[in-house]
Amino acid sequence: MVRLLEGKAAVVTGAAQGIGYAIALELARHGADVLGCDTQAARMEAAAEAIAAETGRTCIGTGADVTLRSEVQGVVARALEEFQRIDILVNNAGILIHAPMLEMAEQDWDRIFAVNVKGCFLFSQLVGQEMVRRRSGRIINISSCSAKKATLHEGAYCATKAAILGMNRVLALELGPYGVTVNAILPGATDTEMVRSTFLTSAEIEQEWIDKTALKRLGTPADQARVAVFLASPLADHITGEAIVVSAGEMMSQ
Ligand code: NAD
Repeated sequence: MVRLLEGKAAVVTGAAQGIGYAIALELARHGADVLGCDTQAARMEAAAEAIAAETGRTCIGTGADVTLRSEVQGVVARALEEFQRIDILVNNAGILIHAPMLEMAEQDWDRIFAVNVKGCFLFSQLVGQEMVRRRSGRIINISSCSAKKATLHEGAYCATKAAILGMNRVLALELGPYGVTVNAILPGATDTEMVRSTFLTSAEIEQEWIDKTALKRLGTPADQARVAVFLASPLADHITGEAIVVSAGEMMSQ
């Protein structure tokens, strides 16, 4: 196997499960050392141990809430202490709260913006400063197809994922002169605990989502992780400010 990220150091947020876990694993398989953080500290530590055992890379798991500056600072400091630099940042941590716009609780609105948008801002700012100092780096933001289309009862979620795209473009513009690329991935429906616990709650609903795709299947976390590896690798040297849809063709039929 060609290893695209030999000797690189990465930070992945929300890496205890789902897409974040798959990204951390795939980065490590390609030769990167990884620090993953998640509010589920014990699960994150176990995930990191599993990745280290499978790949032979250093993989550290730590508990942290991406909405709290002090905890983000702690994660960045730990990564710099362990790896002396951060080559790749993946802003993956996110939550989905389903509610019609007219019924959405204000505290749910605030929480989803805090996790999905402020978390991405805090990590991008602190790690971005470090990357600018080193004149090199890759930031990958996990947005969603929901940034570009209306999904019933996902008003707040759609707004946060569109906000990430705005931040993605401006970060790309501001950090580009320092050799830092910033790109987003827009996953379509991907089989994780997030979707199973919110909208993919029956075989009929699952089939409806499969029918929306051209390839006639849901995404897997690994489908998303391979694109993250590409964006982090030298293959994507000339790509910045972009948003790559990874949806089995679901987006084109909207
Ligand atoms: P998931 O719920 O399986 O995993 C998300 C992880 O983020 C969990 O481990 C969770 O503990 C962690 N997390 C949540 N809040 C956090 C916080 N404040 N600080 C640190 N960690 C936190 O979900 P997933 O499906 O793997 O989603 C990963 C990302 O992909 C999210 O940003 C999500 O919006 C995005 N996405 C997912 C899909 C999909 O269909 N699964 C589609 C489009 C976009």
